[in-house]
Amino acid sequence: MSGNQDLLQRSLNSVWHPCTQMKHHERYPLVPISRGEGAWLFDTDGKGYLDAVSSWWVNLFGHNQPVIKDAIKAQLDQLEHVMLAGFTHGPVVELSEKLSLLTGLGHAFYGSDGASATEIALKMSFHYWRNIGQPKKTKFISLQNSYHGETLGALSVTDVAIFKDTYAPLILQSAQMPSPDSRLAEAGESEEAFALRCAEALEIYAAEHHAELAAFIIEPLVQGAAGMAMYHPVYLRRAREICDRYNIHLIADEIAVGFGRTGTLFACEQAGGKVSDIADFVCLSKGITGGYLPLSVVLTTDDVYQAFYHDQTAKGFLHSHSYTGNPLACSAALATLKLFETTNVLGNNQKTAQQLLAAVQAYDLPLGHIRQRGMITAFEVETSNPQFAQHCYTAALRHGLLLRPIANTVYWMPPYCLNAAEIDHLVQSTQTAILESMACS
Ligand SMILES: *Cc1c(COP(=O)(O)O)cnc(C)c1O
Repeated sequence: MSGNQDLLQRSLNSVWHPCTQMKHHERYPLVPISRGEGAWLFDTDGKGYLDAVSSWWVNLFGHNQPVIKDAIKAQLDQLEHVMLAGFTHGPVVELSEKLSLLTGLGHAFYGSDGASATEIALKMSFHYWRNIGQPKKTKFISLQNSYHGETLGALSVTDVAIFKDTYAPLILQSAQMPSPDSRLAEAGESEEAFALRCAEALEIYAAEHHAELAAFIIEPLVQGAAGMAMYHPVYLRRAREICDRYNIHLIADEIAVGFGRTGTLFACEQAGGKVSDIADFVCLSKGITGGYLPLSVVLTTDDVYQAFYHDQTAKGFLHSHSYTGNPLACSAALATLKLFETTNVLGNNQKTAQQLLAAVQAYDLPLGHIRQRGMITAFEVETSNPQFAQHCYTAALRHGLLLRPIANTVYWMPPYCLNAAEIDHLVQSTQTAILESMACS
């Protein structure tokens, strides 16, 4: 047994891997990674894989990024952690102030991962209505095919059958509104007209049920786990108007789309204005630390904050996580924001995105619904292979590329640091992997 084989076997014996039927690893080997550099991951044999999914959508500026790494090292010499109840520290204050300026939402509540941010936003919204004397507003709505995380509360607003159905008896009832996913538009109907038609359905539901509705939670512009479903920003504007009219909170889940991913710092900005013009709550995680450390935050309004500010303890938001506001994670987040301030990230991404889109358009492959929002590029592959996603993933690995298609959707969500040679590798290896996995085998 080579060293690798030994590591793989020990991993299978001791590590229960996420989002995996472990038995499938009898056929599909794990990939043992020993280091990362820029857009690349290297396995223990030194083979490189271009990380086209940014390590599950978290990495922004590449692996082994010097600015973020140095910030964490400097913080490590000062303070690794202190609890945030009753205590505070520089990095968490500075980060909260910066995020407040960038989003227009001035009160930051921290968690450690995306799902806990969703939980925090749902609990806060529910508790807000209780605190202001509207205890009947207890229900949540989300979009069809939405994804907001997999803890029980988050799962109740997630609409992905494979993650949800087994746990149905455990989770809250919530209603799903028609998704403005432009793939579902009628022939000849514009993306915008379709989004407006879906917003009408939302309005009809809200008009009937608002007395019991606490919040509408939504992934702005791109529903990631739905297969990079993209929609017109007018939907966000209309959703805001509807939520205003019927007194419903709007929770923007920017966990995947925040931090430049869709072409603006936050996706809500594409509906015009700041995040606070669309959302009562915004959930941020994933890219917030550039992909370095787990951190999440929910930012909300003065109005929400004031509803909890009271002499009575129980009117406060008593939720907590042990690593809330971890200083190392906050220092990585501050370095991430510094990179946005000191380099023309969004401008450079625009050029990269144009090249990626042009490359897909030039493919001689049976593709449909070619689409792009900023640094997310996606398309459907017309194939009769029911195992296309798995086969394409495996073929891509052979060709030095980490690609994780969702059903027949192939998408690129790479780190922002791709150079010309890397774009070329991405485009060529993706084409080869698709060709090798189109037929059943
Ligand atoms: C990943 C994701 C989550 C959950 O975040 P975790 O850190 O995996 O718990 C929630 N919402 C969206 C939109 C996501 O992409």
